[in-house]
Amino acid sequence: MTEKTIHIKIITPEKIVYEDDADAVYAKGISGSFGILPDHIPFMSVLDIGIVKVEKSGQGEKISVMGGTFQFKNNEAIILTEAAERGTDIDTARAKLAKERAEAIIGSSETIKDIKTANAALARAMARLKAASKG
Ligand code: ATP
Repeated sequence: MTEKTIHIKIITPEKIVYEDDADAVYAKGISGSFGILPDHIPFMSVLDIGIVKVEKSGQGEKISVMGGTFQFKNNEAIILTEAAERGTDIDTARAKLAKERAEAIIGSSETIKDIKTANAALARAMARLKAASKG
């Protein structure tokens, strides 16, 4: 008998960033991190900026997602997000620059709006660096 898997799709307005069958998927919801195995009951969550980790044949792959929604039903997980990148596709120099830029703004800004915008940019850069990191 073949093992059950989860069909995962990570979709942005521009393209399908990831589509594959996996043994498990882990993500960061706005009210906490969660993991889904095959045959889980239907489940939905709003995602935080962070990492989606997909496990397949003992191997893990990380994909950065910039918030969005996660829906699981009938062993299919659909993630809709504004932007997502597979770890191997991430330009780490660009993410490091974005992180430094955001930190400089956070350290020098006086308006709440600028700080909020920079905090979101910092979270995006940190998620990208985490997705690109080994392990
Ligand atoms: P930056 O300031 O470097 O543009 P950003 O957080 O403002 O970063 P987004 O607006 O979230 O970027 O994304 C714009 C597009 O660029 C998206 O298609 C996203 O996937 C891509 N992108 C952003 N940063 C990176 C990166 N470090 N590596 C690869 N693709 C990236």
